[in-house]
Amino acid sequence: MSAIFDAIKHDEETLLCRSYSRYPLAIVRGKGARLWDADGKEYIDLLAGIAVTALGHANDEITETIARQAATLTHVSNLFYQQAQLKLARLLEGTAHFTKAFFCNSGAEANEACIKLARRYMAKVRQNQACDIITLEGCFHGRTYGSLAATGRPSLQDGFHPFPAGFRQVPANDLDALRAAVDDRTAAVMLEVVQGEGGIKPLDAAYLRGVEALCRERGVLLIVDEVQSGLCRTGTFWAFQNFGITPDIISTAKSLANGLPMGAMLTTDEVARGFVAGSHATTFGGGELVAATAAKTVEIMLRDHLAERAATLGAQLKTQLEALAARVPGQIREVRGLGLMLGIELTSPGKDVWLELISRGFICNLSHEVTLRLLPPLTIAQADLNAFVHTLEDILREKAARG
Ligand SMILES: *Cc1c(COP(=O)(O)O)cnc(C)c1O
Repeated sequence: MSAIFDAIKHDEETLLCRSYSRYPLAIVRGKGARLWDADGKEYIDLLAGIAVTALGHANDEITETIARQAATLTHVSNLFYQQAQLKLARLLEGTAHFTKAFFCNSGAEANEACIKLARRYMAKVRQNQACDIITLEGCFHGRTYGSLAATGRPSLQDGFHPFPAGFRQVPANDLDALRAAVDDRTAAVMLEVVQGEGGIKPLDAAYLRGVEALCRERGVLLIVDEVQSGLCRTGTFWAFQNFGITPDIISTAKSLANGLPMGAMLTTDEVARGFVAGSHATTFGGGELVAATAAKTVEIMLRDHLAERAATLGAQLKTQLEALAARVPGQIREVRGLGLMLGIELTSPGKDVWLELISRGFICNLSHEVTLRLLPPLTIAQADLNAFVHTLEDILREKAARG
């Protein structure tokens, strides 16, 4: 590592709380699907800030929108009527069956809103005792107390007890287990149709349709967490649309404002009756700067048909990776995912492969030690994806040769 990098690393260890384990990179600039580090080295970005900069880094139209809005009005608070929120709500509601939106600042907060709405709808509209939220093993819903209780992963909860009550978990893709868990205290089932942090694991289509039918039959709400999978990434605007289900509430965030902090909850008129003025609020949520930027982001996604682009590029990339798995036997266990949300599960721990990709100029994520997780900008060039496949092949061949 360079002296510049060492100095940055040293300052960070002195100045910041230790809550992140960082990649050995200090990024200073980006454009499209390219990033540059503090030493001027160039990378192809297959991670997009964890599915955030879907339109690429320093997108000209987004930069222009941020600059213009910042010079006009950045924030007045939710005490006032704000038109950027309305423009964004219209765009988002046009993508599916939703008719009501609530804006916030992050994925975890969007999930908090989902959980609070589900509980309050049961308590105040249906006037019953249902308050439990059932989630699936392997899920990730965030790091706040409610969303982390929903996540239920002991390694993330360690040292933070007690957690709020009313959360339980069942194995994914097991409809009998869910059927046995649902009772008259169940308010909602909450799931990701493609588990993201869990290692890019799409749920079975038949299971998802079964979950929806069970929820309808038992009067339980279905919440889908689209924080990572939403906004064109999986080849449809929302990932649930790949499976023909209609959730009552969804959360979204990551790429909503192409890098500005922004989250949203979308729901129906019926379920939205669970909130009245004063039920839930956030100071920053849907402020003019982020809402105008999000509206521009969604406008571009729709105008440029980025869902279709993700479907086409993703299917090609998946085929290329499966062919690579066959050409270099014994290295890749499985290629999973939908659209440009793909996981390459290796047959052995992949830290060496991941670090070598970085040193050859490709940035992706390593999930659960064995899965290379790809969440590139939806605007990435086909040539960049091809270059990644070639480089990965070289690295896996060298690893196979070492034995
Ligand atoms: C990232 C993520 C979250 C949490 O979002 P934050 O903005 O980090 O709070 C929640 N759910 C899913 C599926 C995610 O991928």
